[in-house]
Formats: sequence, structure tokens, C-alpha cells
Amino acid sequence: MTDCIFCKIIANDIPSFTVYEDEDIKAFLDISQTTPGHTLVIPKKHVANIFEYDQALASKVFAKIPMIASAIKVSNPDIQGMNIVNNNGELAYQSVFHSHFHLIPRYSTKDTFKMSFKDNSKKYTSEQLESIMTSIKNEIGENNVKNI
Ligand code: 5GP
Ligand code: ZN
Repeated sequence: MTDCIFCKIIANDIPSFTVYEDEDIKAFLDISQTTPGHTLVIPKKHVANIFEYDQALASKVFAKIPMIASAIKVSNPDIQGMNIVNNNGELAYQSVFHSHFHLIPRYSTKDTFKMSFKDNSKKYTSEQLESIMTSIKNEIGENNVKNI
């Protein structure tokens, strides 16, 4: 896609600090370096978000994430953990609309990454959880998910 910044990085029209590349994916340092080693993994095929993947593309991209995550971890003995983040849609903090996975190494509780999940476990009844479960299950067919 011509006006996509990540497609331009794939084409080397915009330079990047690439740590891994093959025919399906590219992994390069995020310009913002939320923590040192913050890496983006992107498919070479332009898809905007997770909802545009099919299983073949998912297999190609997801299968390589553990290898890249492990390489980042062993590259620096100070890395204690890693958050893998994938934002989908503007509401979910996506700002570049070419799908990407953030691999964010964690160094300590005081490092420069923040993420928190609110615990609403006391707010939902079993009936409400049953209803939510049923709505999702109904969209999952024999081939795992309809339309994929
Ligand atoms: P999002 O908010 O869409 O999940 O993340 C987009 C990420 O792309 C941001 O973390 C941002 O720093 C990164 N980014 C945006 N433009 C560039 C660029 O030109 N080069 C690199 N390496 N990263 C970029
Ligand atoms: Zn693109």
C-alpha cells in the first residue's frame, strides 16, 4: 500500500533497524523504544489489523514471534520478562494501520512500560458470563471462526 509507513519500511524506502526478515515478516526496532529492545513484528502482506488475517497468514507471522522474543531476551541479561502487545483499531490505541506486534522487554517494575488490567471479576454474575460466552461461541464454527 503506497501511503503506508510500514509498507515503506518493508520496501526499504524508509530505513529501519531490522533484526530479522524473511519472505513473510519483518522485525525491526520501534522508533519509540518504550523500553530498550522494543521491537515490532509485521507481516509483509499489508493487513490493517488482526481481523484481516486468515489462518495461513497467522501461521506465518505468529509462528515466528517466540523465536524473535527469545532472541531479544537472550540479547540482554537485564531483561526479566516481555509484554507482547497488539493494538487493533484507533480505540485500542492503534496508530499505524498495518498490523504489528509490539515485543516490549521488561527490566523491572520501575521501567518505562505501563499497562494495567482492571479486575472486574466481582461485577459479573455467572449468567452474564454465560451470555457473553454463548455470543462468542456462536460465532465460532467448525473451521474455527466464520469467514476465515
Ligand atoms: P500502534 O500505536 O499502532 O500500536 O504502534 C505504532 C508504533 O509504530 C509506535 O510504537 C511507533 O513508535 C512506531 N512507529 C511509527 N512510525 C515509525 C517509523 O517510522 N519507524 C519505526 N521504527 N517505528 C515507527
Ligand atoms: Zn502497509
